[in-house]
Amino acid sequence: MVMDYVQAALKGDVEKAAKLSFDCINCGLCAVRCPAEIVPYNIGQLARRLFSKYIDGPTEHVLEKVKEVEAGKFDAEIKELKNLDKATLQSRYETREKRL
Ligand code: SF4
Repeated sequence: MVMDYVQAALKGDVEKAAKLSFDCINCGLCAVRCPAEIVPYNIGQLARRLFSKYIDGPTEHVLEKVKEVEAGKFDAEIKELKNLDKATLQSRYETREKRL
């Protein structure tokens, strides 16, 4: 899987590299073991970002979320988080609702 998307990227096939790297979770194990000292997951992530921006385009839910951010929907919450002390922020993070 790893070298398949790296090869696709080397050939300039951004779409194939993006799709083949879709299951990559950026764990970094391939980079640790790579004899060529490349960082494959960065290549996969770049391919997916290029594919999304220039080939496939953003999805409707992303465009909606951008509108909400630009309208300031999350400003108060972000301001509150930025003013929390480290212990409270860590506690909030550890007890957050996890969405799968
Ligand atoms: S970063 Fe992890 S999941 Fe992604 S290609 Fe490398 S080994 Fe696989």
